[in-house]
Amino acid sequence: METVRIAVFGAGVIGLSTAVCISQMVPGCSITVISDKFSPYTTSNVAAGILIPHTYPDTPVPTQKQWFTETFHHLSTIAKSAEAADAGVYLVSGWQVFRSVPTEEVPFWADVVLGFRKMTEAELKRFSQYEFGQAFTTLKCETAAYLPWLEKRLKESGGLLLTRRIKDLWELQPSFDIVVNCSGLGSRQLVGDSMISPVRGQVLQAQAPWVKNFIRDGSGLTYIYPGTSFVTLGGTRQKGDWNLSPDAELSREIFSRCCALEPSLHRAHILREKVGLRPSRPGVRLQKEILVRGGQRLLVVHNYGHGSGGISVHWGSALEATRLVMDWIRTLRTPAPVSKL
Ligand SMILES: Cc1cc2nc3c(=O)[nH]c(=O)nc-3n(C[C@H](O)[C@H](O)[C@H](O)COP(=O)(O)OP(=O)(O)OC[C@H]3O[C@@H](n4cnc5c(N)ncnc54)[C@H](O)[C@@H]3O)c2cc1C
Repeated sequence: METVRIAVFGAGVIGLSTAVCISQMVPGCSITVISDKFSPYTTSNVAAGILIPHTYPDTPVPTQKQWFTETFHHLSTIAKSAEAADAGVYLVSGWQVFRSVPTEEVPFWADVVLGFRKMTEAELKRFSQYEFGQAFTTLKCETAAYLPWLEKRLKESGGLLLTRRIKDLWELQPSFDIVVNCSGLGSRQLVGDSMISPVRGQVLQAQAPWVKNFIRDGSGLTYIYPGTSFVTLGGTRQKGDWNLSPDAELSREIFSRCCALEPSLHRAHILREKVGLRPSRPGVRLQKEILVRGGQRLLVVHNYGHGSGGISVHWGSALEATRLVMDWIRTLRTPAPVSKL
């Protein structure tokens, strides 16, 4: 077998990073990303893109830490390179505040972010309703810039992008040797996975250039994330809600919660309301599968279900998916045993 033909389904942060990672690590393959939506129309585009891990109950914590560490290091390298502005990746400092002392005062990712420490009394005075807080520096990965940057890198390495809705993983056979499924919430229909469901998130994008630090309520429900051209104000977590239209009443509520955390926001100008459906699953599905139909086999790698924290772990997750693709390539290159009959 000469060139191994790989199709990646999905063009959010998971699909594009997986495609780029494969193109960098696997020689002798062709890659085609096939998706019904590309940036700026994916869920990944709605994310503020702050690197603070979300915990997946069914994914072992050491695995989550590894994915986060690899993602943090990968983006740190970009943030200190000449590519930082084009990729939309930079450092950001701020606070995560809690109304009461959390059971986990030091989270598993504390030694990955920079300068993690307990907030001082003086810092906490800024947040009168809060009893405890963590101060740290992390990264922000602005998907409006990062996704086109990944697309460009993929095209430069010879990869193709194709707009198409896929109804069945077998649909494009026999055009590809390996299919990598990064279709996020789309996997509910595409592979019939009822464990994945939407968690609706509504955010506001506001003009408030004086806000320089991130502020996040420890519940993850209210947050203020400054960016290069706007501040993201959030948010909501509405389980099982598929509605993609912004709700004006919710926007008023989000704004009022954010103003309570950072009163200077009363003077902010709201630019836009955005809604995204987080592809939520108890654990990320990152595994190989071999499908057989009518005597044909289809080699698949699944990489989906990153819920509320896909940006935070995308590169580590892409690295693991790439290792699984390499396993399948070894299988393809191993000659089938010859029958002695
Ligand atoms: C409001 C909000 C704020 C967030 N903030 C953060 C944050 O600050 N930090 C963080 O780490 N995470 C954050 N997240 C979570 C993050 O956005 C997701 O975890 C991440 O975007 C998931 O990426 P994905 O590529 O799996 O999904 P998606 O971006 O949804 O991409 C899926 C792709 O698959 C394609 N597709 C699906 N089905 C099919 C099909 N049948 N045929 C063809 N193509 C198909 C879609 O078109 C799309 O291109 C946030 C999410 C929301 C909603």
